[in-house]
This record gives sequence, C-alpha cells and structure tokens, in this order.
Amino acid sequence: MSGLDTLPSLSKVIAAHGLAAKKSLGQNFLLDLNLTEKIARQAGDLSGSDVLEVGPGPGGLTRGLLAQGARRVLAVEKDPRCLPALAEIAAAAEGRLEVVQGDALEIDAAARLTAPVRIVANLPYNVGTELLVRWLTPQSWPPFWESLTLMFQREVAERIVAQPGGKAYGRLALLSQWRTTPRIVMSLPPEAFTPPPKVHSAVVHFTRLDAPRFPADAKVLQRVVAAAFNQRRKMLRSSLKGVDPEIERHLANAGIAPTERAEQVSLEAFCALARSLASG
Ligand code: SAM
Repeated sequence: MSGLDTLPSLSKVIAAHGLAAKKSLGQNFLLDLNLTEKIARQAGDLSGSDVLEVGPGPGGLTRGLLAQGARRVLAVEKDPRCLPALAEIAAAAEGRLEVVQGDALEIDAAARLTAPVRIVANLPYNVGTELLVRWLTPQSWPPFWESLTLMFQREVAERIVAQPGGKAYGRLALLSQWRTTPRIVMSLPPEAFTPPPKVHSAVVHFTRLDAPRFPADAKVLQRVVAAAFNQRRKMLRSSLKGVDPEIERHLANAGIAPTERAEQVSLEAFCALARSLASG
C-alpha cells in the first residue's frame, strides 16, 4: 500500500480542515476519488511528465494525478486554508508534490517545471478562460506544455470545440483550434461537485500542435478575432474598420467577402486575414 492509499476520504479532509467552499474563489470540489482518477487518466500517460495543477483545493484531483503516476505535480492554490490538507498529501507522495500558495495568474509556473509538462486542472470558473487564453497565446510556439486537460462549464467547452456557423463559434474556438486539437472527453452533472454549481461541466483535452494549423502572427490574429466577434452581428467591413483603414483590401486578399459576418469565417480565412494585415 502506498502512502497515498492511507489518506483519509475527502469529506473527512474537508471536515478536519474546515474547508467550507467559498464562492468568491470558484470553489466546487470533487470528492469522489474514482472520478478524479478518471479525469487524471484523460491527460494520458503522466509517468514521465511534470504536471501543473491550478487550484488543487482539498486535493482530490491532485491525488488522482499522483495515483496515475505523475513524475511530479506542482499545485498552485490561492486559498491558504487548503495548505494543511495539501501538506498531508505532499508527505504521503514522497517528494512528488510541491504546493505553491498564490494566484495562478501571477505565478510563473513554467520556470518551476521540467519538460515534458502537462497541465491538468478543475479550474476556478472565474479565472479559467483567462488562464486558457494565456496558455494558448504565447508569441512563440510550441509552448512550455504538451497538453491541457481542463474542466469548464459545459457551455464554455462547447465554445472551445465549435465550428463556424453557430452562436458558440468565436474567439475561444479560433484560438484553441489554431494551435491545438481540443476534444470534449468527459461530461459531469452538477451533482458531481460539492457544492453543486448551477451548470453542467465538461473536461476538454487539448493536444498541442507542433506548429499552428495555419501561419499567422499571434498578436495580429488575436486582435482581428477580438474585433470581429465583439460586434459579431455586423458585417466584417464595419466591425473591422477600427483594425485597419484599408480593411476591405485585406478582406479581399484573404478571400473574405466584406459583407460576411464573423460567425461564418473559417480559421484558415482568419489566419489569411491576419497575414495580410501584418504585411501592411
Ligand atoms: N481541484 C479541486 C477539486 O477538483 O476539487 C478544487 C477545484 S475548485 C473548482 C477551484 C480551486 O481553485 C479552488 O480550490 C480555489 O481556491 C482555487 N483558485 C481560485 N482562484 C485561484 C487562482 N487565481 N489561483 C490559484 N487557485 C485559485
């Protein structure tokens, strides 16, 4: 029996350390260790990887990641109340778990990790999208990580994998599909969490591509996509007017009709538009 198997149940951990969930920190905990192991398995073979986990809370997913054989887990948690519970797991994990207290939006985790790195997290919903966009948009590619396995609200997961032509299609789909292959690999009902959130959740696994699907400058692509979907009901010649005074010429270069709306435009066409804009 490894030290991890002797740890108390998560409900006992929560009771012992007084970890009543705080809404302000997006705390909805997973207490079923079978479920957290199943989520950890979606990340693939962890045995030769460092894993970055954001928001371990009482440590259910952390325990799943360690049980799946992660070489090392770096867990970044904002709530200091969780530290004693996480210290118990670290003691049982015999050097494989390092816990850092702080805000994941401010900590440079990449500097503390050794490749290959996989990121796995049941993200706090209030910072999840921002972290995802940061992980997807470094100026150079490939990034410091090989894959992301992340829990989102189901509706956000659907936006990530959306195709052109529907309401869900937008910035998240384009940024995700430009540099990774994202797949919804699990769906979870509200009752899987304590306390249950109002919405359903889903786990998305992103496999990074060695090179972006189509060439484009990351900053230019982000700017044009943000402007196009900020006013998604308008025709592109008007929603993108502020991006470049000669936007109609650039749209023509990219083979996009000026009367098209953002929702109809493929990733390939947005990348062509970003290239035309970048070349002036
Ligand atoms: N991973 C645990 C689980 O699956 O039961 C907890 C998930 S809970 C949805 C989100 C966790 O992220 C909470 O523990 C919360 O305190 C933490 N958190 C919230 N904002 C954070 C931030 N900016 N940086 C790091 N952790 C954060």
